[in-house]
Amino acid sequence: MRRVKIIASIGPKTESEGMIKKLADAGMNIARINMSHSNHKWHSEMMKRIKKISSNSVFPIGLMLDTQGPEIRTSAKTEFGLKKGDIFKIAVSSACDIQEGEKHTFVDYKNLINKVKVKDIIMMDEGLISLEVLKLEPYHITCKVLNKGKLEKRKSVTIKGIRADMPSITKKDIEDVKLGVKNSVDYIAQSFVRNAEDARQMRKLLKSIGSEAMLIAKIEDQEGVDNMDSIIQEADGIMVARGDLGVEIPMEEIPTVQKQLVDKCIAAGKPVIIATHLLESMIENPRPTRAEVTDVANAVFEKADCIMLSGETTKGDYPVECVEAMHKIAKNVQKRLNFEVPKNGVKTKDVREAITLGACINAENLDAKAIIVFSRTGRLLSLVTKRRPNIDIFVFTDSEEARRKMMIYWSAFPFRIKFIKNFDQMARIAMKMLKDRKFLSKGDRVLVVSDFGRKKDVDIMEIRSVE
Ligand code: PEP
Repeated sequence: MRRVKIIASIGPKTESEGMIKKLADAGMNIARINMSHSNHKWHSEMMKRIKKISSNSVFPIGLMLDTQGPEIRTSAKTEFGLKKGDIFKIAVSSACDIQEGEKHTFVDYKNLINKVKVKDIIMMDEGLISLEVLKLEPYHITCKVLNKGKLEKRKSVTIKGIRADMPSITKKDIEDVKLGVKNSVDYIAQSFVRNAEDARQMRKLLKSIGSEAMLIAKIEDQEGVDNMDSIIQEADGIMVARGDLGVEIPMEEIPTVQKQLVDKCIAAGKPVIIATHLLESMIENPRPTRAEVTDVANAVFEKADCIMLSGETTKGDYPVECVEAMHKIAKNVQKRLNFEVPKNGVKTKDVREAITLGACINAENLDAKAIIVFSRTGRLLSLVTKRRPNIDIFVFTDSEEARRKMMIYWSAFPFRIKFIKNFDQMARIAMKMLKDRKFLSKGDRVLVVSDFGRKKDVDIMEIRSVE
């Protein structure tokens, strides 16, 4: 089984039920809906389609809603080919003075006019197109295009420091999150989390509408990078959102920030997603560049929980091939991954840390086939996966919601089981389920961990063989 999980964003090229199924068959573990694009009717329909396909799959397809957050985007109606030297207007109101044929877009942030000065540089589409501000008028900004590019719909508009006076969760985000909760999303990816308080606000919102979705904080700017420790503590997981990060911090910092975030999340037992541009050239080409193959491989070597596809699967010509390529690269690289016993030794006073680490060490020593975890919420599972044993982790829970959320963890494959008082019988049922589904064979050795089952105050770490 593949250790790293694949997240694929759903868009115009993958919106049909047939395409979503193809992505799932190719190896998509989590489907992402980016609320920066399209409308609620479309979002609801996609979520329903994903749920339907998930309910017919052996393992669930997790559902992730990604908020727009405090980000300015170009309008959904304007798309232009731009040349160096072109005049381009950014309007903040329909009262603007845009003439027929003039290249332009609308943004929904009126205060933009007061935030920029002549000669400022505005970047669009995560820095792919740069504009220089020439003139400010009451309802539009006139700019000069500095490099050629194709401006597509709903692309980001970035000016350093612009986000300071924007709320971390916008009115649109609140409505979007409510829609997601109504459709039982498993993860909310919150854009532009700058500090722990931003994440707390989102948690509060989720609680207020009765949701226990996992909160994934997207680190996308310098403030988020500076506050990574407290954000990791507050959120349930992290996304290294390299698209926006690449324009918000010096690009040469990205690999270091990625490595720091991955290492810190693994240590904290919180899932970490590496996002954006992993197979960017496959939007147009059937095969990835060698650099992209290496980028995906590097994410696997770093032992990130998830790797994510964005434009590659929303608007690209080869969405299924992208998932297949990620799967192939990941499977090949994981053969070389080593389980590492913690450098500071194995002493701990926490019993759950002890049984989970013990299971990983014993699994390695005994050449076991799998670790089986009984976990109600995913907490015990997270203590196993954070050790990154290079082995299948089959996790059994009694809740469908918990099962879907568990898909985000490294190497975790969740099943639903009825928790019963007789632990021996429950372990045998779990092993039979795995044998019947051909994940295990007779005689295979497995490690079993549980923090409930036999008696109160008895934690379990045992070695069994498949009957
Ligand atoms: C990113 O910036 O890398 C990202 C994942 O966010 P979005 O796609 O919402 O811009």
